[in-house]
Amino acid sequence: MSSSTTDTGAKATGAKPKQFQAEVAKLLHLMVHSVYSEREVFLRELISNASDACDKLRYEALKNDKLMQAGGDLRITISLDKKAKTLTVADTGIGMSAKELADNLGTIARSGTQAFMEQMETAKKKGDKDVNLIGQFGVGFYSSFMIAEHVDVVSRKAGTKKVSVWSSDGSGTYTVSDYDGEDAPERGTSIRLKLRKDAKEFLEDQRLQYIVRTYSDHVSHPIYLGDEQVNSGSAIWARSKSDVTEEQHREFFGHVAGVIGDPAMTIHYRAEGRNEYSVLLYVPGEKPFDLFDPERKGKQKLYVRRVFITDEAEMLPSYLRFVRGVIDSEDMPLNISREMLQDNPTVHTIRKAVTKRVLNELKKCADKKPDVFANIWEAFGSVIKEGLYEDMERRDQLYDICRFRSTTSDGKETVDLAGYVSRMKENQAGIYYLTGDDAGKAEVSPQLEGYKARGIEVLLLTDPVDAFWVRTSLGYDGKSFKSVTQGGADLDEIPLEDKKDKKDQTDDAATASLVAALKTALGDAVQDVAKSNRLTSSAVCIVAGDQGFDRTLEKYLAQQQGKSSISAPVLEINPDHALIAKLAERAGKGEDMGEAARLLLDQAVILEGEVPADATGFADRLSKLMQQVYD
Ligand code: ADP
Ligand code: MG
Repeated sequence: MSSSTTDTGAKATGAKPKQFQAEVAKLLHLMVHSVYSEREVFLRELISNASDACDKLRYEALKNDKLMQAGGDLRITISLDKKAKTLTVADTGIGMSAKELADNLGTIARSGTQAFMEQMETAKKKGDKDVNLIGQFGVGFYSSFMIAEHVDVVSRKAGTKKVSVWSSDGSGTYTVSDYDGEDAPERGTSIRLKLRKDAKEFLEDQRLQYIVRTYSDHVSHPIYLGDEQVNSGSAIWARSKSDVTEEQHREFFGHVAGVIGDPAMTIHYRAEGRNEYSVLLYVPGEKPFDLFDPERKGKQKLYVRRVFITDEAEMLPSYLRFVRGVIDSEDMPLNISREMLQDNPTVHTIRKAVTKRVLNELKKCADKKPDVFANIWEAFGSVIKEGLYEDMERRDQLYDICRFRSTTSDGKETVDLAGYVSRMKENQAGIYYLTGDDAGKAEVSPQLEGYKARGIEVLLLTDPVDAFWVRTSLGYDGKSFKSVTQGGADLDEIPLEDKKDKKDQTDDAATASLVAALKTALGDAVQDVAKSNRLTSSAVCIVAGDQGFDRTLEKYLAQQQGKSSISAPVLEINPDHALIAKLAERAGKGEDMGEAARLLLDQAVILEGEVPADATGFADRLSKLMQQVYD
């Protein structure tokens, strides 16, 4: 059977075909049948893996220098066999054992695989160039099947004797077996690609040279094509700012963020003084697929004097997790273990300083390039706002970059808090906001009527995170945040813009008897019934009581805790409304308000985007009422 012989004819023993994990198989199918125009990215992916493998070995060798004894320097070599039509990418990195070959390249579906394929489907429907997604989703290795009909991965783990080979043609199964070919690597991994007939371009030196320089120039290990080193190989972050071109930034951004395109913002500097370190960070222009990953961790890479240490040190707080790039320390010990990083004072200091710098740069961008910042905010605002309750220390700094929709902002435009405060009315009690899940819907909420009639601006907070930060907030610039859907509306001190609006249709005694009658009729269904100050045209609305949560927040919390109901609302009635005036008159005469009460509450509930507690009852009442009208 051919599966027991590798493509190059070397003897392989004990090879039993294994099935790819289901998601992986699907992905491979996609790769094998791909028609992407940018197939060349396969090389970027293989080089990136080779470079990671070299980084890993260098790190391990800090503790155990025997690992580097056999196999020479860390390097990546690309070689061609034009006759056999093979392209080989070899590295002298950490290597893989037989088990690791099977796990890494067949069994374990990478977390991004499913998400990747979903995005591919959407991209295809939209006719996008979907190949951009490959690197971002950690499905890099499999992209070799875009150009190869057969792939052999021969590997020897550093410090071990055994050489193993993984082989597949990408169609459902792979084998892993012992390898005894003469070309076995002394250390590391050799990936041999038998090129497809339509992929001969990758047998040309010039083409390969171009691809390496375009996508992988920054790789810090030397990349050889034949005997010649093709990458410049110096750490781009260690160069001075003026020595790095936009092209180089784009390439490096692609490498650290896994996307193709320009970063929205670049932060490149070198800190001197008590701690010395280089920083090269990018803010992407688009949301990555895993922005709301429950792990919510930053993935900035930490280096010590050009040696990669880890990308899990969380060099930035989680609300800045979309920022990608490198921080390279000059004065940390090289042999620092990943576990020790947590309590390392230098890491702590750097983290603090870099966070401050990133926030400063975001502020600068917001002030000087509002269009660029608008994009960043659109993509990451909802994440940055997590900082408003997670990072009390920097809350004021964060307020300065926050942007919101408001009742005075137009369409996609946003306002900032300083602007809001400058537009506040005399005697305005605070910064008013309305939470909800849709700005369009929020904007027509009846609760806003009284504010609009007085020309008072209200922030429309429509991200789930808003309901949380706004509750813990102590205010901005000495003004507290006030929900327009909670507690009484303190609007008496602010005059209406158009006085004619106020009709005073109902006398207070009649209103009081209606309030009492409604309260009796509704019982536990409401917390209270009150005369409204915030309505001008609608008859009724519901709000949350003075104590406790805003209704939006309560809904989120109930959802999280699997509860189906939230606290009873306060029903507010508008004494200036003709219907309420009529009802008040009748209540004053002692009439029963039972049916009317339920209908009023249910319509207020519907206006909130909620469902009446008893939908059948609501429909019955409404039908009865209509019958009377159409009788
Ligand atoms: P990713 O690089 O995002 O993890 P890949 O599909 O590119 O995803 O690679 C899968 C895994 O296979 C890697 O995480 C690594 O463990 C292993 N791997 C791939 N290439 C090499 C290599 N040249 N040397 C050592 N391990 C490798
Ligand atoms: Mg990879």
